[in-house]
Amino acid sequence: SAMKDPSVEQQLTVALRIRPINEAELEENAAIIAHRVGDQMVVLMDPSEDPDDILRANRSREKTFIFDMVFDHKATQEEVYVSTTKNLVEGIISGYNATVFAYGPTGAGKTYTMLGTDCDPGIYIRTLNDLFKAIEATSDNMDYTVSMSYLEIYNEVIRDLLNPSSGFLDLREDARGSIQIAGITEVSTTNAQEIKQLLTKGNIERTQEPTAANKTSSRSHAVLRVTVKQKSRVKNINEDVHVGRLFMVDLAGSERAVQQTQNRGKRMKEGAHINRSLLALGNCISALSEKGGSRAQYVNFRDSKLTRLLKDSLGGNSRTVMIGHISPASIYFEESQTTLIYAYRAKNI
Ligand code: ADP
Ligand code: MG
Repeated sequence: SAMKDPSVEQQLTVALRIRPINEAELEENAAIIAHRVGDQMVVLMDPSEDPDDILRANRSREKTFIFDMVFDHKATQEEVYVSTTKNLVEGIISGYNATVFAYGPTGAGKTYTMLGTDCDPGIYIRTLNDLFKAIEATSDNMDYTVSMSYLEIYNEVIRDLLNPSSGFLDLREDARGSIQIAGITEVSTTNAQEIKQLLTKGNIERTQEPTAANKTSSRSHAVLRVTVKQKSRVKNINEDVHVGRLFMVDLAGSERAVQQTQNRGKRMKEGAHINRSLLALGNCISALSEKGGSRAQYVNFRDSKLTRLLKDSLGGNSRTVMIGHISPASIYFEESQTTLIYAYRAKNI
């Protein structure tokens, strides 16, 4: 299906961010092979193709991919936030659900986009700030409460990143069929500095296992869940509370763990779990992005903990944003190509 105008409200937005090349890559004599062309196109060059081979040069050296939006090394954290996530805030306050994913291999910039750095925060903090501002600005007769939880899914097990000693948490369905996380910490604070500290501390608690490819590859999905409850201040207190939920997910590294890191045993199992949950997620998203939901009946949320957790926030009236991440360096051609194909397929099956 063709790409739609990104200015029109749509259910699924797929963006792609190319991070700046770094020192380590330059030291390995890596060339820049991923380029942004216009607002929506990525051109990826295959470094293994011989540029002097005239017959093949134009045929297979360059591959192009189209997305709703593309960011390169020049894009600021604010720009990425404003074009992908800012416009979800109003909906969340009005009781709608949404999910933002960061997808890509280890080192491609997922955590930079979501958590960011102290002086240049990412989507988590910018979203929370705007949520608080928007709620403060509403002059209607509504009471709002905002709370957040931060968890990881590692090997199909859920851990509370704000209370790591609490062990494994279970997913349960309540009487209305919506998913609950039993015993998860819910923090209500509007203090931005406090939130920053909580998230940074939580992120350190994430399961990071050294692998041959990268010393701090994240083997877990980190999920920040923000809940906004809206209640009328004037009408009778029994009135229904509107609940809006935003999930912001820093997905596990998408590199094929088994092939690329000579993993054995435990690592192999991790790789299998990660691949399975990313595959389940891709399947859910592409099924939901089918116009008219004709395939919605085949969406199997039960395929992984991640998709079960997100069940109420994917499809229906919910909006989904997927931000794919790649390095521009030639040494990561394979990972970049795989990532571009995954992100492109999420929307174009
Ligand atoms: P991932 O979470 O996908 O494994 P990171 O977000 O940790 O990758 O990024 C790897 C490194 O690259 C980090 O040091 C990070 O600060 C840096 N980095 C990533 N994206 C950018 C960017 N857009 N601008 C500047 N530095 C970045
Ligand atoms: Mg990371």
